[in-house]
Amino acid sequence: MLKEKTAIITGSTSGIGLGIARALAEAGCDVMLNGMGDAFEIERVRGKIVEDFGAGAYFNGADLSKPAEVNSLVAAATREFGRVDILINNAGIQFTAPVEEFPADRWDAILAINLSAVFHATRAVLPQMCKRNWGRIINIASAHGLVASAQKSAYVASKHAVLGLTKVVALETARTGITCNAICPGWVKTPLVEKQIADRATREGISTERATTELLAEKQPSQQFATPEQIGALAVFLCSDAAQEIRGAALPIDGGWTAQ
Ligand code: NAD
Repeated sequence: MLKEKTAIITGSTSGIGLGIARALAEAGCDVMLNGMGDAFEIERVRGKIVEDFGAGAYFNGADLSKPAEVNSLVAAATREFGRVDILINNAGIQFTAPVEEFPADRWDAILAINLSAVFHATRAVLPQMCKRNWGRIINIASAHGLVASAQKSAYVASKHAVLGLTKVVALETARTGITCNAICPGWVKTPLVEKQIADRATREGISTERATTELLAEKQPSQQFATPEQIGALAVFLCSDAAQEIRGAALPIDGGWTAQ
């Protein structure tokens, strides 16, 4: 379905981003991976995409907290592929603390990676999408783009802001073949959430299993994690022709979290 399309997926060395990169590659897309982590593991993950799907898969280690590196990521993908058709803004980080104790440097880092990088990447990629009159920009926001939780001021602020930015880009491109939408996952079992489960187990002196059950019971009515594969499938659908008139939407995939 996405043969001859090319995509950048930020933060795709693990978790949801990797799930999306694999789903796009399976649909025929060439992918530019990005993220942090162990070089050997990243190379393994990249090689597996080539092996499993026969797709072109490349890696660029841009640090998205730095605007110049966001621009260099878009430039590198454009050089490698000749063009970028799909941008998945997925990279994100988390930190939890009450507002009055929230470290200012964590606030700055979360806003830089979760929000400003989305702006810089979108700004860098839009001119070439406009020239071809086709493009897909998908922002991985969160259930926390729609509702809040205590202790997550920077994360919730950044994700609500990403939904605002998504709507503006969708309006500015409304008469073109470019669409911009957001996916709002609930709990997905990735390193980002595993850390929150471990912190909860330590804080409450309970087992990891108990902390997992409590975490799900508190927010997610299905009491099941959503999976990177399910989010990848939704991203592939948003890239299809059938999704051409989905514009500026925030699509939850959250086991009922935001239906409450
Ligand atoms: P993850 O920690 O598994 O992956 C995050 C990715 O971002 C990694 O590839 C990491 O290397 C990359 N990254 C972090 N800082 C970076 C930087 N400065 N520059 C470049 N890359 C950087 O987390 P995940 O759960 O897969 O999260 C992916 C996205 O999904 C995030 O935006 C997160 O907020 C969102 N999300 C996750 C959940 C969940 O339950 N896991 C729920 C809702 C939304």
